[in-house]
Amino acid sequence: MPELPEVETIVRGLNKKAVGLKIVGAWTDWAKTIKTHKLTDFVHEIKGRKILRARRRAKYIMIDLSGGKTLIIHQKISGHLLYGKWIKQSQISNLKSQNYNSKFKTKLETGDQKWVSTISGPLQDDPYNRFIRFIIFLSNGYMLGLSDVRRFGKIFLGDTDKIENINEIGKLGPEPLDPKFTLAKFKELMRHKRGVIKKVLMDPFVIAGIGNIYSDEILWYAGVAPLRRVEKLTDKELATIYKYIKFVLKKAIGAKGDSQQDYRTLEGKFGNYQNMQKAYQLTGEKCQKHDGGIIKRIVINSRSAHFCPVHQK
Ligand SMILES: [Zn+2]
Repeated sequence: MPELPEVETIVRGLNKKAVGLKIVGAWTDWAKTIKTHKLTDFVHEIKGRKILRARRRAKYIMIDLSGGKTLIIHQKISGHLLYGKWIKQSQISNLKSQNYNSKFKTKLETGDQKWVSTISGPLQDDPYNRFIRFIIFLSNGYMLGLSDVRRFGKIFLGDTDKIENINEIGKLGPEPLDPKFTLAKFKELMRHKRGVIKKVLMDPFVIAGIGNIYSDEILWYAGVAPLRRVEKLTDKELATIYKYIKFVLKKAIGAKGDSQQDYRTLEGKFGNYQNMQKAYQLTGEKCQKHDGGIIKRIVINSRSAHFCPVHQK
């Protein structure tokens, strides 16, 4: 599932590409994706509105629109938002005279996609970018498309000034990269919690935006074992975890996220954090601290945790 760095990367991309454009329509083959409106009402509500800015809260993409509305997208397990141009397969026969490259033609002929990218590169070539379930049509001819293999993505539309009433947004914990998220604030949050640290770090109502990947990574850097109980952590250990929450998330944003699984950037490209992983999904590999440890996988509440049994105490 995309976590804070992946969602932040998408939001930064949206601020570069989509701000100032008007929405001219929307499409989905999966009306259940839209949680707040029926599709026809949704299209009616967003049509003609201008994209003012994009921002992030936890793992939610928030797109503020003119007229006091905000479009919210949660990419959930396998969704990622793309900026591109697609045509419906049914339109393809009308376009035969146009000069598409051979790769594109092959894909058209296989007949397994409903929407096909007219832009060559990763939007055509990467299978994870081809599951377009939801589209926002923009005034410059481009589109925002949600590619979502498993169809768990969620879309909401609400009043910008009442965002906290949508889904769980009002109940989310603080943003870990917010300057107001200080060490004192982190310690105070942890002192009110019980349970294993891996689970506490992943709880969006404690701290927003950290999931399976980055909780493993933070604990590897901090040298704390994922099964340690938060109430037994020393002040020094909490300070170290706090330091590496900020460090790892910033590093992952710099890498444009982790594309080991479905996530891609707004342009459909790979992020790079999968090449920097220290623990996540490295079961059986030598610890990069060269301490003789071999990364081990355990299961905590049906989620896997990866750690080095030598340096993570
Ligand atoms: Zn180690």
